[in-house]
Amino acid sequence: MPICYIGFGSNLGDRLGYILGALEGLMAFGEIKKVSTVYESQPWGPQNQGSFLNGVLELETWLNPIDLLRALKSTEQKLGRRPRERWGPREIDLDILLYENHIIMLSFLKVPHPYLTQRDFVLFPLLEVAPELIHPLSGKRLEDYALNLQNRLVPYICILPSEL
Ligand code: AMP
Repeated sequence: MPICYIGFGSNLGDRLGYILGALEGLMAFGEIKKVSTVYESQPWGPQNQGSFLNGVLELETWLNPIDLLRALKSTEQKLGRRPRERWGPREIDLDILLYENHIIMLSFLKVPHPYLTQRDFVLFPLLEVAPELIHPLSGKRLEDYALNLQNRLVPYICILPSEL
């Protein structure tokens, strides 16, 4: 079955509760193989919002990328995410970072995720669960992108997949 990597984040309310709810929701769409450390990170974009908890998980899924995106959006809604400004605070955010080595350039779905190599809260947790990954567009090792990116993440908690 296809392997994909999903980024998760929350900076509103019970942040860890939303993340645990998201992980539980995702178990309906495949098998969670690995979960990175959950990190605390400072907001990207508007600074007048609370800090985020972020991480990345590896999911073996039977859904194709478009159905997976729908599944992520419905999981966000079920958990109570409300529409807000771009880059603004959010109860829960779920993004497809990679799906096998597919390249998808649709208006509503871009894979690899366009900011994959530019954000510490995506790249470092992703490398933690899959250090050998190659960027499907550039052919470069993701590890090489990390050399140019400052890591400001503060470890917050570890979630073992067996505890879910
Ligand atoms: P967000 O505010 O992060 O929830 O994302 C807003 C929109 O980004 C979603 O409604 C998706 O249609 C779009 N999007 C494009 N590429 C991706 C991706 N790789 N993963 C998740 N959402 C994506």
